[in-house]
Amino acid sequence: MRICVFCGSSPGARPVYAEAARALGRLLVTRDIGVVYGGASVGTMGALADAVLAAGGDITGVIPRSLVEHEIAHAGLTKLEVVDTLHERKARMSELSDAFIALPGGLGTLEELTEVWSWGLLGLHTKPLGLLNVDGYYDPLAHLVDRMVAEGFLSPSGQAMLLLDEDGPGLLERLEGYSPPLGKWS
Ligand code: AMP
Repeated sequence: MRICVFCGSSPGARPVYAEAARALGRLLVTRDIGVVYGGASVGTMGALADAVLAAGGDITGVIPRSLVEHEIAHAGLTKLEVVDTLHERKARMSELSDAFIALPGGLGTLEELTEVWSWGLLGLHTKPLGLLNVDGYYDPLAHLVDRMVAEGFLSPSGQAMLLLDEDGPGLLERLEGYSPPLGKWS
């Protein structure tokens, strides 16, 4: 069992974000779940990786060649895969993982999250996807998603694909209990 964690290349403005990344890393190790992530040593990505390694866990990074120096690839990972493009990175992270969790992050995190969610909506995979809503960070996104449903751009079953919880154990429970609805065109 491996979970892909999408997280930021920045630490965020408050320590609560890095702490949430570390807590999630420790939790995944406790549950014997391997971690897949973007391979960097900086931001909440670095906080997650350091916590997993300190707890003796298994963590694989997937990073594009062009970002190896820029994002400062983590040197101590269980495994680091260097790929050619951002697209390959996302495809590989997805292939390696049984589920996805997004921590608070920036545009890259949002892009990764919405891509796997939209692939799920199209029935291209049936893996669960969760948002760790640290300190209400993703409340505005949840409101936008409500609006998408109200305005007829997203089905309620599509909305239900995105699991949301304020804490790691609660989110893992939701991921474990997930049963995928039919894809949009099924
Ligand atoms: P961010 O949340 O913006 O800090 O980015 C988190 C991760 O997403 C980093 O590893 C970035 O390299 C990656 N990223 C940034 N922009 C994109 C994009 N357009 N597509 C895919 N990944 C991205």
